[in-house]
Amino acid sequence: MNIIIYNEGIHDKQDWMKPIYPDGIHGAIKQAIKGEHNITVVTLDNITDITCELLADTDVMIWWGHAAHHLVPDEISTVVTEAVQKGMGFIALHSAHMSKPLRQLLGTSCTLKWRDDDSERIWVTAPAHPIAQGLPEYFELPEEEMYGEYFDIPKPDDVVFMGWFNGGEVFRSGVTFTRGLGKIFYFQPGHEAYPIYYNENIIKVINNAIAWAKPTARISGQDCPNYAPLGAVKA
Ligand code: ZN
Repeated sequence: MNIIIYNEGIHDKQDWMKPIYPDGIHGAIKQAIKGEHNITVVTLDNITDITCELLADTDVMIWWGHAAHHLVPDEISTVVTEAVQKGMGFIALHSAHMSKPLRQLLGTSCTLKWRDDDSERIWVTAPAHPIAQGLPEYFELPEEEMYGEYFDIPKPDDVVFMGWFNGGEVFRSGVTFTRGLGKIFYFQPGHEAYPIYYNENIIKVINNAIAWAKPTARISGQDCPNYAPLGAVKA
């Protein structure tokens, strides 16, 4: 498969994060992906590499963003949205709930409740779903940021995971959608201050999600009419 990992890469450049993710969040996610794939990493520094032509040849795109959603050009959000509608799989991780492409695809605010420093128990609520294969009925993250309901998303196709936090909140932690021919998975764990992307169960979910989101049908991407390469993005 051709896979793109987009990580804005802002926190990753700060010293406090180096001990957790020495190669950045994108490095840890790349390391976590199993099998023979052609993986391209894009950060905010080279975000203009994301073109309609590149996405037409991409099976699954993974998106991690937090501090710089507003610096993602609208034109790039639109080409990602259109690529998903044409069949590309899209996996939005953690604070990518507020990313431009996910909000454009879902059409709601995608806002939620949050609090630092909690722990989470993640329950499998759709055990027959391909993304849940090989997982126990629940697993725990000893440290995770709390994301709580109400989560302003449209009704998902499936709620694969439900998170329960030590503070008592619950959250639809793993949800799927279809837009056009494209499959979308939003997965809540992955706060940048904790080593979430080394967790075996999280790695299993990401690999399952990639296999599930692989296009089963797609509209060929011959026409990229409204998009011309953009200038450099100011950080
Ligand atoms: Zn976070």
